[in-house]
Amino acid sequence: MTVVSETDVASSWIDGEPVRTGGASHTVIDPATGAPVAQMALAAPDDVDRAVSSARAALSGWAGATPAERSAVLATLAKLADEAAETLVAEEVSQTGKPVRLAREFDVPGSVDNIDFFAGAARHLEGKASGEYSGDHTSSIRREAVGVVATITPWNYPLQMAVWKVLPALAAGCSVVIKPAEITPLTTLTLARLASEAGLPPGVLNVVTGAGGDVGTALAGHAGVDMVTFTGSTAVGRKVMAAAAVHGHRTQLELGGKAPFVVFDDADLDAAIQGAVAGSLINTGQDCTAATRAIVARELYDDFVAGVAEVMSKIVVGDPQDPDTDLGPLITLAHRAKVADMVARAPGEGGRIVTGGVAPDGPGSFYRPTLIADVSERSEVYRDEIFGPVLTVRSFTDEDDAIRQANDTAYGLAASAWTRDVYRAQRASREIHAGCVWINDHIPIISEMPHGGFGASGFGKDMSQYSLEEYLSIKHVMSDITGVVDKDWHRTIFAKR
Ligand code: NAP
Repeated sequence: MTVVSETDVASSWIDGEPVRTGGASHTVIDPATGAPVAQMALAAPDDVDRAVSSARAALSGWAGATPAERSAVLATLAKLADEAAETLVAEEVSQTGKPVRLAREFDVPGSVDNIDFFAGAARHLEGKASGEYSGDHTSSIRREAVGVVATITPWNYPLQMAVWKVLPALAAGCSVVIKPAEITPLTTLTLARLASEAGLPPGVLNVVTGAGGDVGTALAGHAGVDMVTFTGSTAVGRKVMAAAAVHGHRTQLELGGKAPFVVFDDADLDAAIQGAVAGSLINTGQDCTAATRAIVARELYDDFVAGVAEVMSKIVVGDPQDPDTDLGPLITLAHRAKVADMVARAPGEGGRIVTGGVAPDGPGSFYRPTLIADVSERSEVYRDEIFGPVLTVRSFTDEDDAIRQANDTAYGLAASAWTRDVYRAQRASREIHAGCVWINDHIPIISEMPHGGFGASGFGKDMSQYSLEEYLSIKHVMSDITGVVDKDWHRTIFAKR
């Protein structure tokens, strides 16, 4: 079933209402069928200007609202999003092709929980210190909203990525202009509509739809914003940072990943096999934290490869609307071609395709779960982000070799270590260079804990109280408590006192 979105008449959301914008016409496509899902006009450059002006005009009112007032609106938004869960699920499945089970059990409830978390967090913005540090003054700390935030998000988890950026910004008192990926705008538009229904004042949250090369560029380099937050690929993230740097704007970047999945010789092999398949195939492997590089103790290597191949071969690939489907299509035919080309080049670099490596016949951009063993450390599939249902495997000799291989990447977003030795688990979590290290699991996230990478995976945090800090400026207020004219430090200016 293809869903025609409730938001299909609206192209962007500016100043608290749906707006028919002046850019090119665009059709949102269902990747499972190739059928149209929604028809819209994209934003034009002056629509971006309007959205930024609207966010600027709304800023002081929202930033000046009490934490309790902001919290109440966000709590209502969480409630409305929960009530609209099936609409959000239908839109997310139809525009991304992700299995309905994933959208219903992960994307949407996870987003609702995140909104709810930030409704609470909005009331915990107290400063850290107030006191006399010079003897003559009282100092205090104010935490103030950074201002107008420009946000650019990817297509893989459209709703969650929007929520991870927008909600801490709103909780902090910022106003926002968000550009979702051109091909997946629907749930972000619905989020803005629900926020408006929840009582968010007009202009506090604006959505401009369009392609990265025009609307994204215009927003990232806009002089009228105060901060740019971005989730997407490392290459585009660097362009966004360069555009924001022209104005000296604060940036926060959540970029690509190439997560190692390290299986030590004392690991529970069955748990590691199942964890590797789940961790590599979630969202058809289009997940920045997905397990992509299995690094396995030599003693377990053959059994691990055989076990993963067997579990992968039973994965049900098909209609995302069917609750029994495990794996949906890749996002587009073009993306499938990129994944397939990378896999096809792997044998030339020493990789052995154990299972998968094929695209099923028929419509949609489907691709079979793929396991590539014996990959070389220099091979493309081992080093570069594939962003598809593909797991590569290598062996290691000892713990030092395992850690060295895990860290042999420019990325540093997520990793996992599988072991029953608590000391080894602690050492691995210390030594592996990544923003998140799971022990005996791979993928779970939780609203209270931060998500964000190191190195080529970016900097700054989404989710948790830590992400609120991204959207707050710290101001020092220093008040004279003596009332004297002839202040002690004036000796440095007036030689003859
Ligand atoms: P992408 O190509 O980098 O695009 C991300 C966003 O940037 C889209 O909205 C895109 O717009 C826009 N964009 C493209 N070129 C731009 C430019 N020159 N200036 C401003 N904006 C521009 O990434 P993607 O293919 O959508 O998503 C997959 C990537 O996201 C992967 O690398 C994945 O690892 C990463 N990701 C990271 C995290 C994390 O938390 N670290 C989470 C999810 C995804 P259009 O698509 O409309 O052109």
